[in-house]
Amino acid sequence: MLDFVFSNATKIIFGRGTEMKTGQEISRYGKKVLLHYGGGSIKKSGLYDRIVESLRKAGVEAIELGGVMPNPRLSLVREGIELCRKHGIGSILAVGGGSVIDSAKAIGIGVPYTGDVWDFYSTGRKVEEMLPLGVVLTIPAAGSESSGGSVITNEDGLYKRSANSVNMRPKFAIMNPELTFTLPPYQTAVGAVDIMSHVMERYFTNVKNVDFTDRLCEATLKTMIVNTPIVLKEPDNYEARAEIMWASTIAHNDLLGTGRIGDWATHGIEHELSAIYDIAHGGGLAIMWPAWMKYVYKHDIERFAQFACRVWNVEPDFRNPEKTALEGIESLKGFFLSLGIPVTLTGAGIPSDRFEEMARKATEKGPLGNFVRLKKEDVEKIYRLAL
Ligand code: NAP
Ligand code: FE
Repeated sequence: MLDFVFSNATKIIFGRGTEMKTGQEISRYGKKVLLHYGGGSIKKSGLYDRIVESLRKAGVEAIELGGVMPNPRLSLVREGIELCRKHGIGSILAVGGGSVIDSAKAIGIGVPYTGDVWDFYSTGRKVEEMLPLGVVLTIPAAGSESSGGSVITNEDGLYKRSANSVNMRPKFAIMNPELTFTLPPYQTAVGAVDIMSHVMERYFTNVKNVDFTDRLCEATLKTMIVNTPIVLKEPDNYEARAEIMWASTIAHNDLLGTGRIGDWATHGIEHELSAIYDIAHGGGLAIMWPAWMKYVYKHDIERFAQFACRVWNVEPDFRNPEKTALEGIESLKGFFLSLGIPVTLTGAGIPSDRFEEMARKATEKGPLGNFVRLKKEDVEKIYRLAL
């Protein structure tokens, strides 16, 4: 196990009706807030009205900016920064999923910065400061409610890039599993894939003697494997929704990465897909994982065999661990397929004519991944394997 510092100060407020605490929580950070949300699901569900009511009761004035799209865009971020400056807004409330939260983080780091906010995404400039951010989560998926990451798409050149800093963790996240009952099956499924992806990115490591975090990862994956089919059949099953919602946070709050170095190539490979084809992030990941695994598994057959046996209950074949490893990869692919989502590029209607461009962009800053270092040619081959 490697040495590490683990610090995650996001306060989690979990359970039924917790959205009514929003006003009280955000008022600790000032009386004027930017209320940031997406394309309208919160208005349809009635959540918007409850949030506005809670803010009113706490004496908090809200300036609104809705319209965040999945794969959030830089232009709206710029608009948000201007709005905050114009009205002297001191804190942000994000009501929605990863896209809204990531857009809020970008606005929050852009306001106190005198340069162009895209610097944090394009050059990896260090984030020193962010406006205090509170979250009301409506979809368990990205884990952005307690992560230090933000992923934004720059429409100019279709670059999807991330900024990361411990200074970007939200101050609090309100998580009521009931708010996720209205999720369409597709969003539920691709959200589950993203949660599992955040675990797998950390699981495939070259660091040895990480048994405790291996087992935490395996438990989180098993929780997703058990509960996702339940909520697809019964969207208002509170207990199963609650298991998934808490798993989404744990999968990406850095606990599972303690003492180890994660891989993150698959996220990098996927970001090029969602940047160009605007596919849901989890939808792209469901396609890229089996392809990445097939390309790299020989690097550590034992680890892939452990994944197969402990996560997917594959019967170990001690004389042929490669067979066990491959069965694990097929189990993962079969599980994604069982959620009703495509697991190939062809199935998702994505053509093969831009693989070279995507591989070039993905490796612009050097090889991708830590488990296996992938150069441009490798990434191109992985896209091809995913056809
Ligand atoms: P999302 O893009 O925030 O939302 C997806 C869709 O779900 C939207 O159309 C939204 O509609 C709808 N929706 C959300 N909650 C709903 C509800 N309760 N009922 C009905 N519909 C609902 O999804 P996400 O997967 O959470 O976020 C994806 C983004 O996060 C990607 O850009 C990805 O790259 C990024 N990401 C970030 C991190 C990180 O650490 N920062 C990690 C992984 C991924 P409305 O717009 O109408 O609300
Ligand atoms: Fe992700």
